[in-house]
Order: sequence, then C-alpha cells, then structure tokens
Amino acid sequence: MRYTRWFFITILFGLVSLPARADFQVFACEPEWAALVQEFVPDAQVTTATSYLQDPHYIEARPSLIAAMRGADLAVCTGASLEAGWLPTLLQRASNPAVQPGRSGLFFAAEYAQLHAPHEHVDRSMGDVHPEGNPHVHLSPDQLPAIADSLAHRLGQLRPEASGDILARYIRWRGRWSQHRAEWRQKAEALQGHTIVIQHTNFSYLLDWLGMDARFELEPKPGLPPSASHLSQLLTEPGLMHVDAILIASHQDPQPANWLANQIQKPVLVVPGTVTDSGETQTLAGLISMIVNTLEATVQEEPGGGL
Ligand SMILES: [Zn+2]
Repeated sequence: MRYTRWFFITILFGLVSLPARADFQVFACEPEWAALVQEFVPDAQVTTATSYLQDPHYIEARPSLIAAMRGADLAVCTGASLEAGWLPTLLQRASNPAVQPGRSGLFFAAEYAQLHAPHEHVDRSMGDVHPEGNPHVHLSPDQLPAIADSLAHRLGQLRPEASGDILARYIRWRGRWSQHRAEWRQKAEALQGHTIVIQHTNFSYLLDWLGMDARFELEPKPGLPPSASHLSQLLTEPGLMHVDAILIASHQDPQPANWLANQIQKPVLVVPGTVTDSGETQTLAGLISMIVNTLEATVQEEPGGGL
C-alpha cells in the first residue's frame, strides 16, 4: 500500500518536473538569426540555411533544407527580398502550415527595421530592383535591438512555458549590446570621414553608423557583379586616392578587390559578412567589434587617408 503511494507520488513528480519541450525546431535563413535565436533559446534545435562563406542571395533549395523547413516551429529570415531567389520555393516544397507568410511561424527581421536605399537593391536572379531597400541590416548597431525585441516576443509566443526565461535573456542581451554600442561609438571617432571601398552594400549600415564614407562600390549597382568597365570608371574617381582600404566579405570573390588594390596601392580587408562557427565572431556583437577593430587598425596605419 505504502509502496503504491510512493510510486504514484514519484510518477506525479516525474510528470511535473518534465523539462520544457526541448525539441523546438528553428530554421534560420542566415547565421546571424541563428545566433540571435540561440541567445534567447539556447536549447533550440537550429538549422541554418547559409554560412558566412556563402552569398545569402543565392543558394539552392536542397532537399535537406526542405526537410528542415517542414519540421520547423519557426523560420527566421531577413526578408526584404534577400532570399527571393530561394525561400519561396523552399516554403512551397516544405508546405509546413505553421511556417507561411502571415503566420507566427515565419519571422522576417527586415519588417522590424528601417531599411536604407529603397529601390537600389538588385537581384540577379530576378533581374529586378528590390523596392524594400538594403536588406543587410544585421550589422546595424541601432536597428538590432528592435529586431531582437520582436524576435524575443515571437519566441515567447511560440514557447509560452519558456517566455519568462526568454524575456530575461533578451534583457541581458540588450544590456550587453548597449555597452558594446558605446564602445563602438567611441572607436567611431577615429573612423569618421574615412573612406572605404566596398564590394556590395552588405556593410553599409555599419559603415554609415560609424560615420564612414562607403560610396565607392565594386559592383556597378548593388547585386550586379563587378565589371571591368565599372572598375575602370571607378579608377577615374578623384576621391578614390583618399580611400583607406577595400573591405570585402569572406564569401565575396576577392579578384575585383585585389585588382583595384593593386592599382591604388591600398589594402584589401576580408572579414566575415555574418557570424561564424568559432571565435569572437560567433555573436553579432563580437563580429561588429572585430570589424570595427580591423577598420581602426587600418586607419591608424594609413596616415595619408581620411579627410
Ligand atoms: Zn545584397
């Protein structure tokens, strides 16, 4: 009799103390959103469609990604047509009713940001200009908190049993972000007015925020590959001799940057365009710090550059 009673009590406690659902499946279109989800829900099972070595505009909707999308509780993507070449196919083939436009299972970061340069972002696969603006908003020190706030709320809605923990982690993340932002602001003083050549607009939000001039692009238009005629045209720009460096992302073809660097005798800086699998660049704050430090070191070495 006594044994039976304890048996039932044990069963009852066993049920009550069951861990919160550990199989929360998240599909992240880009690594920056995977990293952000893991800040707030460390036990989420996250599949990331692209890596820092890939161009997020152009990937294939391969079967493993379709399967991951089919099983996802939430998909977190950039939106603003960044994934226009592959995400619609993926969503359609996965036909996951929870993860569809307009449903809470599909989160687009760009919907919570103020996009720059509308009508200027081009997508080769569409042969068209994206009206929404520059979608590469994940390196914007000012816009990330709004995106993170909305993401944390969405995660809390989808995992109500963990919403208190998610909110607490978000508040801590926000505090750390503000501290980092103050450090970046301080370092920006040395960077203001300096000119950097970029390949694509993927660093534009950060460079603008730092007060740097990033008007020279290796691409003739954002999204169109660098062409010989555009590069020769760039060489005739009077301001080009005052640039400090050419900044490209790890996934971008270094050839055009190297060619120009050779012509103008300036360094090429290659940094990850998004978070990586290891080291300080595993988080967005770490990545921004690394880029800011790289720029700071370059500007210090180039006394002839700047204003
Ligand atoms: Zn782009």
